[in-house]
Amino acid sequence: MNFKPLEKSNPREDLTELPALGLGSKAIAEDIRHYFARTLGRDKNCRSTHYPYVALALSLRDRLMDRWKNTRYAYDEQDSRRSYYLSMEFLMGRTLGNAMLNLGITDKTTKALYTLGLELEEIAESEHDAGLGNGGLGRLAACFLDSCATLQLPVKGYGIRYEYGMFRQDIDQGHQIEEPDHWLRDGNPWELERPEYTQRVQFGGRSEFYSDASGKMRVRWVDTHDVLAVPYDIPIPGYKNDTVNTLRLWSADATDVFDLDEFNAGDYTESVAAKNAAENITMVLYPNDASENGKELRLRQQYFLASASLKDVIRDWCRLHGDDFSQFAAKSCFQLNDTHPSISVAELMRLLMDEHGMDWDQAWSITSSSMAYTNHTLLPEALERWSVSLFKQLLPRLLEIIYEINARFMAQVAQRWPGDNERMRRMSIIEEGGDPQIRMAYLAIVGSFSINGVAELHSRLLTEGLFNDFYQLWPERFNNKTNGVTQRRWLAGCNRPLGELLNATIGEGWVCDLPQLKQLIPHAAKAKFRKQWHAVKQQNKQRLADLVEADCGVRFDTEAMFDVQVKRIHEYKRQLLNVLHVIHLYDRIKRGDTDNWTPRCVLIGGKAAPGYQMAKLIIKLVNNVANVVNNDPDVGDKLKLAFLPNYRVSAMEIIAPGTDLSEQISTAGKEASGTGNMKFMMNGAVTIGTLDGANIEIREEAGDDNFFLFGLTAEQVNEQREGYDPQSIIENDEAFSRVMQLLRCGHFSQFEPGLFDPIIGSISSPHDPWMVAADFSSYIEAQQRVSEAYRDQERWTRMSIINSATSGKFSTDRTMLEYNEQIWKLEMVPPLPLNGK
Ligand SMILES: *Cc1c(COP(=O)(O)O)cnc(C)c1O
Repeated sequence: MNFKPLEKSNPREDLTELPALGLGSKAIAEDIRHYFARTLGRDKNCRSTHYPYVALALSLRDRLMDRWKNTRYAYDEQDSRRSYYLSMEFLMGRTLGNAMLNLGITDKTTKALYTLGLELEEIAESEHDAGLGNGGLGRLAACFLDSCATLQLPVKGYGIRYEYGMFRQDIDQGHQIEEPDHWLRDGNPWELERPEYTQRVQFGGRSEFYSDASGKMRVRWVDTHDVLAVPYDIPIPGYKNDTVNTLRLWSADATDVFDLDEFNAGDYTESVAAKNAAENITMVLYPNDASENGKELRLRQQYFLASASLKDVIRDWCRLHGDDFSQFAAKSCFQLNDTHPSISVAELMRLLMDEHGMDWDQAWSITSSSMAYTNHTLLPEALERWSVSLFKQLLPRLLEIIYEINARFMAQVAQRWPGDNERMRRMSIIEEGGDPQIRMAYLAIVGSFSINGVAELHSRLLTEGLFNDFYQLWPERFNNKTNGVTQRRWLAGCNRPLGELLNATIGEGWVCDLPQLKQLIPHAAKAKFRKQWHAVKQQNKQRLADLVEADCGVRFDTEAMFDVQVKRIHEYKRQLLNVLHVIHLYDRIKRGDTDNWTPRCVLIGGKAAPGYQMAKLIIKLVNNVANVVNNDPDVGDKLKLAFLPNYRVSAMEIIAPGTDLSEQISTAGKEASGTGNMKFMMNGAVTIGTLDGANIEIREEAGDDNFFLFGLTAEQVNEQREGYDPQSIIENDEAFSRVMQLLRCGHFSQFEPGLFDPIIGSISSPHDPWMVAADFSSYIEAQQRVSEAYRDQERWTRMSIINSATSGKFSTDRTMLEYNEQIWKLEMVPPLPLNGK
């Protein structure tokens, strides 16, 4: 592309001086017509919902555009300190509903569409989810951006524009089938390509030493294979405050130059074909949640994100400050979302030294006072390590820098603990051995001024276990930031019936100040209010029942308890324990033990990583049990089980409002925080859960009476691991024995003998890391208490109200204010006023 600067023309003329667009239904309807007929060129014969959707999206995007520019101008004018949220995942879901909500024009837009003969709900279904993430970590990043824009904090997200997001999950005969998610096929009206800010990212090659004009020894990285990073910007609107922040996603593109250098003219076609290799980098999201896979392409993606983003920040810095970096660290903060972008520590060192002429100490002072690291897991299989040999070949200059960082760090350790070689070995960024590895978490810790976990328990366990050596060295770096979710999407947007009841009861303040929900507490004692609350829940349950019937072919009766567990399928999350309970209920029905029965509809959903065999087998088990239970005439409406395929953000927007019971049953000490638990609580579900992650804080807020607790604590899990004997636990528990007998005799695998042997083996194994059997009886007993509570509908509704009323802590507005007060220290910057405002 040709970006020749304006010279003869007057470059100071601001072409963006325009009157602000109207937010009324008439103005919106006119624009929809304009885009539909003129820009998209459709006519009355167009029968698809897609083009009206695009016309609507473009009309709303126009209204974001002026606000976006005025937000950028304000940040520049104030020269404010800024934060950059670096994340390999942003699980954004759909944008349309959120854009309308935050612009405050949902009703006006609905009316505009209505005057055009269009139904908003139908049109909105045209939008693909932006599934650029696996689960909680990616959705957290999306919620953070919403809260930062609402709080008017100058925070920019940096991520990757994967051509294929999280795979679509189909279920075939009970098995998970992965289908590619080509979400950009129909175009994406919400993104704005910014080729003028393209960056060049280097791979391969070698380091070359040279002395510069002043005789200083310097290094340059040469003979590299370069890839272009092209940015696409997504607007992130704040709630009714005219702020629009930016999510910048990088897409890989081939450089035209290196192809022709690489091959001689005769290899023209091959050199054009080499484009593929470059563009592969951003082709697909790795679908592993909570496990690393060590693939070279993944390391390429990580470096691609880090390098392009840091170069972009530095480019913008130089636009405002020239090459004076004295204030760079004072005005910039990089938040690393897990270790995935932690190569940024070495890359910022490289850029400051090799490309901006700094010496080591200067560069290190800037880097180590601008990086902050968030840890998301204690699971050892999720801790990223990259082999030194891969680094040497792919990122040789970065390896040199990591070695130097480690050498200086080891000297510090030796000074603090003289002669403690064992500790040096433990703490080294380089794990020695036959195939030495780089421990990315340690690189992140050494290079950061702040290290946080994502719930109180998790942050404490980090300092006591995984990172204890580092905690002893630098206790002041460690802190907690309990996760949250944005109540704009997860309450106001997805549960309009409840939102309206809340507005009518306590006003609208909760939308930007969630703790105001506690004003609901006195209303829980009023029968009339409970009736209204119950009616809203029933309406939402009907919507969920319709989804389940459409996607699973199973009828849920809204009078039954809706018992839901949706999240990634993982052994630590213990979907198995949930299935064992369902089998137990089935067994009771078959035995005729059904006095005072509480009908239940159990819904389980979630994706398994494609290579995670046990997780896939658990999906198959859920489907097989569902088949038996739902087709047994003895069972009838007493019990239903359904597996919901393709769990994703837009599905959760229907699921959370329609749920009575939220299943948060991970092995204590394994779930870092959880955020699904918070979405359910906000929408008035009651939790059954272990003392794990943020469940602990949820129970503290809701009170013991409004939370169904069971299971071992994290400490007990560790104590009881030794001498753990599930066989004898099963033998000594009548109900448990019967459940295991049904599994063993093939009751749920009549035509697939032995299919579930690995599951039976895992539950019965003394080495089961997830201790399923240890919590079985406690879980069954807690579920019995749940059933009794549900039978008293007045009591249940009171619990439901109290849960919602006490969910104020779990807004990402609170989380972001804590990050800001303790880590980022940004000032709130309002945008410049709109023209004519
Ligand atoms: C909230 C959310 C998650 C996280 O759920 P957990 O129960 O915290 O694991 C995962 N996926 C989607 C689509 C979500 O909306």
